[in-house]
Amino acid sequence: MAPSHSPFSIEFYPPRTAAGETKLDAVHAELAQLHPDFFSVTYGAGGSTKSGTQQLVLKYQAQGSQVAPHLSFGGTDEDEVLELLRLYRDAGINRLVALRGDIPSGGGAPAHYRYASELVEYIRQETGDYFHIEVACYPEVHPEAKSFAADVSYFKQKVDAGANSAITQYFYNADAYFRFLDYCGKQGITIPIVPGIMPITNYENLARFSSKCGAEIPLWLRRRLEEFDDDLSGLRAFGLDVVTELCEKLLAGGAPGLHFYSMNLSGSVTKLWKNLSLSDR
Ligand code: FAD
Repeated sequence: MAPSHSPFSIEFYPPRTAAGETKLDAVHAELAQLHPDFFSVTYGAGGSTKSGTQQLVLKYQAQGSQVAPHLSFGGTDEDEVLELLRLYRDAGINRLVALRGDIPSGGGAPAHYRYASELVEYIRQETGDYFHIEVACYPEVHPEAKSFAADVSYFKQKVDAGANSAITQYFYNADAYFRFLDYCGKQGITIPIVPGIMPITNYENLARFSSKCGAEIPLWLRRRLEEFDDDLSGLRAFGLDVVTELCEKLLAGGAPGLHFYSMNLSGSVTKLWKNLSLSDR
């Protein structure tokens, strides 16, 4: 029986090396002590981490965590997706994050490149109501979208196809989220929309990643973060304050949960969890 709500979760990506995986095993063991409602593991749309995702998901699920694999058609055909759905169901996994995925840069669009709404439809067609399906959404608009309204209309398509809840791209501007919720509500989207939270641990990486995925670092925050220069611990302490405050605002304003992009690190998520008293929830 699939879970009916989507509260506090933590995301990993499959490491590329054995050493990275050993490190992530320790991070998972530490974060499991926080008892998140689930962990999720990303999936390379180009297929690069396909087996990595599957292997991590099964390992952490077998260790007692609830794990939600991310999944996309990417360059994969339907039979391969069906095989994964069966494998996950047999392992007792009942939540998925269904995505279009990103096209690997320079590689062009894979032959079977398909929208997330088609994947949601396919999962429902093949497995009925078994899985709780999460989808992605974008309070600051997906970078390829023609407009805000068009992007939300495609988000609604995913909901109409059977998505149960959504996780947002990260953002640092709470108004973007609340305005987005409001607009979605008016379009008849009533599923829980959980904010995705990106801790601030490294300014350069964050700036690079943000410009790629269309997440805004507000000017005031950018200017403050730039000034920390080599002072990594200063930056992290400041980042923790900023993100704690953002999470408090979101929860106070009615966010139904939080999804932490851990970047495979335990420190910031653990501190945020404590600052927000999430273990007492
Ligand atoms: P879709 O919902 O399919 O939308 C993609 C774009 O197409 C949008 O601009 C939308 O407006 C437009 N669109 C949708 N439907 C139509 C239509 N019918 N006609 C015309 N335009 C349409 N990437 C990975 O590679 N692996 C991951 O594991 C991963 N996990 C993620 C988890 C979360 C919570 C989030 C927020 C993002 C994640 N991403 C991941 C990134 C994501 O794959 C990219 O943002 C991707 O570009 C869009 O994926 P989507 O599922 O939102 O796509």
